[in-house]
Amino acid sequence: MPHLTQNAQACAARLRAGHLVAMPTETVYGLAADACQEAAVQRVFELKGRPSSNPLIVHLERQEQAEHWASTVPAAARRLMEAFWPGPLTLVLPARDEVSRCVTAGQDSVALRVPAHPMARALLAAFDGGLVAPSANRYMSISPTSAGHVAQQFPDSDLWILDGGACGVGLESSIVSLLPGDAPRLLRRGMLPRASLEAVIGQPLEDKAGGLRTPGQHHRHYAPATPALAFVQPPVHAIASPRCGWLWCGQPLPCQGPALDLGDDPKAYAAGLYAALYQLDALGLEHLYIQLPPADEAWAAIHDRLARASQRLA
Ligand code: AMP
Ligand code: MG
Repeated sequence: MPHLTQNAQACAARLRAGHLVAMPTETVYGLAADACQEAAVQRVFELKGRPSSNPLIVHLERQEQAEHWASTVPAAARRLMEAFWPGPLTLVLPARDEVSRCVTAGQDSVALRVPAHPMARALLAAFDGGLVAPSANRYMSISPTSAGHVAQQFPDSDLWILDGGACGVGLESSIVSLLPGDAPRLLRRGMLPRASLEAVIGQPLEDKAGGLRTPGQHHRHYAPATPALAFVQPPVHAIASPRCGWLWCGQPLPCQGPALDLGDDPKAYAAGLYAALYQLDALGLEHLYIQLPPADEAWAAIHDRLARASQRLA
């Protein structure tokens, strides 16, 4: 059975001994391991059921530690770090030779982030090194935003979970790559506005991944077990069915089945999305219907996750 704790010192000792620990971050809970112990990093892939071709993000306590992992830190990266670290931004930079290729999935680039959650910071300070920490869920299922979600994902493990309550941001970090000979790219949308990132680096961000492998960007991802359908117009037959669940975005209609309304504010919606999916998924419904939010920029990361969690109704 997983063990919930609030003792960051004890969790740091577990990590040093090569064990895994789930840690809260402001985005989602991460399954942490010492990024310098290959056996521990491998256990992260095993426990998640994640393919080893899918690289991991190294979490650090302080910006200065980036130099221990990246061979060069370009000026644009420094400006982004100053502006958004600690926070929900991951930077992909050229990796130093010493960085385990288990962590980078064989690539010569490494992804780095300094999380803002006070308990993640306490754990990183006590640990004093880099921690890989992909989302603490089985591969392809919903990312956890509470200690309870993590325990539910790994019920048979003896995993220690540092319980830091509900995650404030609720969606995975924005990922920007800044590699020599390539344009700056936004590899994954997060809740940081694209325009704010571009303003700091002083140039537009490209979208596509170029020659970089960025697995974890599969079409099906972040998905509940219940077949989920995203709609603009709710289908009438489903409204009348008690076996259909509903996730509304500020304009709920009266319906027979269980329903949650996450409201029309993108930040609050993002913070509540995965918990709502866990809750509705547990009901064993026939279908889950998700009302699509407005098609504007503030909702871009949410649209990205909903597209991976559901099929869109015409
Ligand atoms: P997560 O699943 O939240 O741990 O995020 C990991 C994701 O970050 C991966 O699936 C990739 O999309 C991206 N990523 C991590 N490391 C690298 C890297 N070295 N190069 C390119 N993308 C990376
Ligand atoms: Mg994940």
